[in-house]
Amino acid sequence: MHKYVYLFKEGNADMRELLGGKGANLAEMTNIGLPVPQGFTITTEACTQYYEDGREINDEIQGQINEYIGKMEEITGKKFGDKENPLLVSVRSGARASMPGMMDTILNLGLNEDVVEVIAEKSGNPRWAWDCYRRFIQMYSDVVMEVGKKYFEELIDKMKAKKGVKQDVELTADDLKELASQFKKEYKKKIGKEFPSDPKEQLMGAIKAVFRSWDNPRANVYRRDNDIPYSWGTAVNVQSMAFGNMGDDCGTGVAFTRDPATGEKGLFGEFLTNAQGEDVVAGVRTPMKIAEMEQKFPEAFKQFQDVCKTLEEHYRDMQDMEFTVEHGQLYMLQTRNGKRTAQAALKIACDLVDEGMRTEEEAVAMIDPRNLDTLLHPQFDAKALKEAEPIGKGLGASPGAACGQIVFSAEDAEEWAGKGKKVVLVRLETSPEDITGMKAAQGILTVRGGMTSHAAVVARGMGSCCVSGCGDIKMNEAKKEFTLAGITFHEGDTISIDGTTGCIYEGIIPTVDAAIVGEFGRVMAWADKFRTLKVRTNADTPRDAKKAHELGAEGIGLCRTEHMFFEEDRIAAFREMICSDTVEEREKALDKILPYQQSDFEALYEALEGDSVVVRYLDPPLHEFVPTEEADIAALAKTQGKTVEQIKAIIDSLHEFNPMMGHRGLRLAVTYPEIAKMQTRAVIRAAIKVNKEEGWKIVPEIMIPLSCDSKELKFVKDIVVKVADEEIKAANAKLEYKVGTMIEIPRAALTADEIAAQADFFCFGTNDLTQMTFGFSRDDSGKFLSAYYKEKIFEQDPFARLDQTGVGKLMKMAITLGKPVNKDLHFGICGEHGGDPSSIEFCNAIGLDYVSCSPFRVPIARLAAAQAAIKAKNNK
Ligand code: ADP
Ligand code: MG
Ligand code: MG
Repeated sequence: MHKYVYLFKEGNADMRELLGGKGANLAEMTNIGLPVPQGFTITTEACTQYYEDGREINDEIQGQINEYIGKMEEITGKKFGDKENPLLVSVRSGARASMPGMMDTILNLGLNEDVVEVIAEKSGNPRWAWDCYRRFIQMYSDVVMEVGKKYFEELIDKMKAKKGVKQDVELTADDLKELASQFKKEYKKKIGKEFPSDPKEQLMGAIKAVFRSWDNPRANVYRRDNDIPYSWGTAVNVQSMAFGNMGDDCGTGVAFTRDPATGEKGLFGEFLTNAQGEDVVAGVRTPMKIAEMEQKFPEAFKQFQDVCKTLEEHYRDMQDMEFTVEHGQLYMLQTRNGKRTAQAALKIACDLVDEGMRTEEEAVAMIDPRNLDTLLHPQFDAKALKEAEPIGKGLGASPGAACGQIVFSAEDAEEWAGKGKKVVLVRLETSPEDITGMKAAQGILTVRGGMTSHAAVVARGMGSCCVSGCGDIKMNEAKKEFTLAGITFHEGDTISIDGTTGCIYEGIIPTVDAAIVGEFGRVMAWADKFRTLKVRTNADTPRDAKKAHELGAEGIGLCRTEHMFFEEDRIAAFREMICSDTVEEREKALDKILPYQQSDFEALYEALEGDSVVVRYLDPPLHEFVPTEEADIAALAKTQGKTVEQIKAIIDSLHEFNPMMGHRGLRLAVTYPEIAKMQTRAVIRAAIKVNKEEGWKIVPEIMIPLSCDSKELKFVKDIVVKVADEEIKAANAKLEYKVGTMIEIPRAALTADEIAAQADFFCFGTNDLTQMTFGFSRDDSGKFLSAYYKEKIFEQDPFARLDQTGVGKLMKMAITLGKPVNKDLHFGICGEHGGDPSSIEFCNAIGLDYVSCSPFRVPIARLAAAQAAIKAKNNK
């Protein structure tokens, strides 16, 4: 027989997978002798089984639950539905990872018309008894039967109005009794059946509701955002009640052992007398600060302080606890490692090391790398932010703080920023043409679009602040104005937006720049000691490169060169090259670009102070570069000595039905070797020059994109090597350089043994590799992936989390095939996944040498790489 139910006494903290976090910790607290109301936990496996059985609790599991009710009755000396000494319980969900968005707790289960009379009489406290009963009906109706809280709240409000009282506690026993009866009528009206009076029926209903809540939409979204697999399931805890609502010598509270906002050591929390469950956080009355509890409840407070000390020492981490005091006696209802801000996480980790509670390695392992994001962007001055009142809210799409003058178009953003103004770009939505304007702006605010809208994705990539989808904005782009919260904003008015919370403020809130100092610096230094993966950055400009270098990047893993052709002083020359008829004409046009490109590389090398730079050769299809404006076309025709029609015909000929799979990547170098030659001259000349000036030993790494075949790669590589060697010889210099390729087409991975013979390194371009492996267009998949999530076909966006099963298998294959052919071959990744912690763990496991990610993700990657190394070592 499989065991699906455990008494608290039978479990411990290590059984989190089976008992869920809450259950495992209730068991652990029981074992270390803390006062915990006893009960049992139904395992996560029972939840999985429930789904396998078509959302039914099978007889075997029901049988075990009934058996454990018996055991619980023995332990507590109380009986379900009993007329002498009735057992009342709470039913609480509890997944492995704490998950807001799941089921609310049901308290006081086991009550019915008979039992409530019994406890009213026995306790001599009818007010309490009826308070429990009306709460139970309310919670059960809401949580199990989904009747909706508001109907009950309305009835309470009516009753308070009728009695002329303000607070729940002022209602008398009779009022509450009347409310209970109204609640039951409401239940019958909505459900069409009597409120269940059999405690066992109530219990099974509640347990099913917990299992069901694992699959509710809120829970599904939370899981996807937090890497929690659907297959885990939730446990259910059934616990005997402790009562905080029996009078003024009772109460309930929540507390942290350290401040979750700052990490400061010391009790932090709140307590409410004569209250139950969520009253403290629900704001029914104003609770007291935890420290004030000392005067009112000296005994219980002393006891609680001891418990806090015990728990911190036991778990060696900041604890978040829930407790209840019943007639002066303390009961512990929950403990867990408390959620905290990134700032607090760093302080607590350092303090725990200083207090001798944790090793440096453990401290590094206990910080969630994804949290660091909030520390890496400019922040609002905390004090100023506290005093400010938001006028609206959108989605916190890309963290950071931005303030400035409002502009309504990308062109204006560029122009104003060019004049040294700080601007916030406000648009209905953004599109690819807006990118330069988005870069120039401090932040971006859009009316439409979700977390994966163009604005959101691009802003995150650039590390810019973005608030998306603020539907309350009434926009008039033509008149350059919008209204929000009754205020009309015009061009040039000031606004502040918070990309972390999504809040929007009128006027300027001062910001402070992010830096890796203090505790942040200390933790990062520890991380660097433990990691073996190198962390590089994806950067195309000296500014980004410098930022990344400050944030700890060890070189550039991906420098996209296309933007270097877009800039005003080069685009004309590049268009000439595209519209040329002969090699000579093309070379002449490219010669104009060469000095610019060379100086771009020099600036990048300088910014990185000698670290390696991987330069990726031109990748996008040529049609992206051609002019669309009539005037530009005419100008181009003139310089080329062609007619406008001829130029238009050339542009039309570049049209492709599927440009992602069209004439791009190294295919451009195959058809126009002149481009690769020019880029090689620029890369090599810049390296020779900077090495000479600075006395450095930069080893430029030339990366050929999109290869799928070794002969194709050899063709381009031979051109590169020939030109590079000529340049080195002509300069009479010594320079080591590497030529490698991106692995981003499945065929490249499949033929990696052949390709390895032509490459010094492989860099996995997992954006394209994911796209080509799935056959999903990255730009279009958002439209149908939501249906995949809903049907549980996929739980994750493969473009955000590396698909280890398929794409990962291709990566492993490429390494396994490539290594024996070329033992010096080194491996990296430069897709979006290079900055995602769970993907980084995989990269570490399959033996990559480096990950490369956007500048602001560098510290996250450093920490994630350290955690991956620590985990791998401990699993050995
Ligand atoms: P959540 O996971 O949302 O915090 P919990 O299961 O912890 O939900 O329950 C919420 C609150 O209900 C707890 O803070 C506690 O005050 C109260 N509660 C739960 N079980 C009991 C119990 N057995 N006795 C008294 N109060 C309880
Ligand atoms: Mg809780
Ligand atoms: Mg690519």
